[in-house]
Amino acid sequence: MADRPLLEVDRLSTHYVSSRGTRVVRAVDEVSFTLRAGETLGVVGESGSGKTTLALSLLRLLPPAARIVGGAVRFEGEDLVTKSPGEMRRIRGRRIAMILQDPMASLNPLFTVGDQVSEPLRVHEGTRRGAAWERARALLKAVRIPAPEQRVREYPHQMSGGMRQRIVGAIAISCEPRLLIADEPTTSLDVTIQAQYLRLLRDLQREHGLALIFITHNLGIVARMCDTVAVMYAGRVVEGGPVRRIFSSPAHPYTQALVDSIPRLGDGPARLTAIDGQPPDLVSPPTGCAFHPRCPRALDRCRQEEPPAFEVLAAHTARCWLAAPGTP
Ligand code: SF4
Repeated sequence: MADRPLLEVDRLSTHYVSSRGTRVVRAVDEVSFTLRAGETLGVVGESGSGKTTLALSLLRLLPPAARIVGGAVRFEGEDLVTKSPGEMRRIRGRRIAMILQDPMASLNPLFTVGDQVSEPLRVHEGTRRGAAWERARALLKAVRIPAPEQRVREYPHQMSGGMRQRIVGAIAISCEPRLLIADEPTTSLDVTIQAQYLRLLRDLQREHGLALIFITHNLGIVARMCDTVAVMYAGRVVEGGPVRRIFSSPAHPYTQALVDSIPRLGDGPARLTAIDGQPPDLVSPPTGCAFHPRCPRALDRCRQEEPPAFEVLAAHTARCWLAAPGTP
């Protein structure tokens, strides 16, 4: 079907289980969202909210203690949760690619940049070495590495942080995936290089019609880059919808607090708002709404009952009793 989303995540749950099976952490808890070709979704939340586990679940790259315990990840109509390890290996890098937080950790110091950029082409497409290296040069040029003819023969330690991040981007797009998942891709970059890299990702997205999932704690980046946003707290999407709508009229107090904590130019010396308290311990999460110990608007009901996802407006949902129909 032409208008079917590229990716449909339906009540996906991933838990970490201790070796004795006595402790369970619901790192991703019934998460649902959809993404169309060419769209960008921002996944935001504090550390420990489940963002990275969500990304690793989509690609089935979870550590041994974690397992998907429910839900579906339909990509181009196929459920990735039920795929065999061999089928997933063919999908990763070729149809879905991922950029990790630390470019140095994703590059092998013992191999040249050309070897690493051309590897997915040789493994997934069976491209011969000479042709794959030719393509590696073109990819370095596409991600605006100066002197690609020379750089392709060099090693990661000979590059700056910004260049290494671009090389990771070149590896990710080498097989022209349909979906790119970027997990905090700009954390290790300074602000100027960060802006250049985000522009580059946008250009690549436009040129290749990529869908993008941007995992970040930086709401400024979400405002610049994303069409829709999913706000995660304690493993759940507590609010989701179009970026403009969520930024202008957040319905969940946690989202409101995140939006209030963005520094804005021209606001004078106004104080930034901080969110009191700490994210919950997911081994023994609070009863009711997981945000209630930190929420300035908590009601008695919030301590007892967990709110479902209420529709605030079309395509805008919030898991908060304040968004329940009929609440003043
Ligand atoms: Fe706050 Fe209650 Fe809404 Fe949770 S459900 S965010 S505690 S008002």
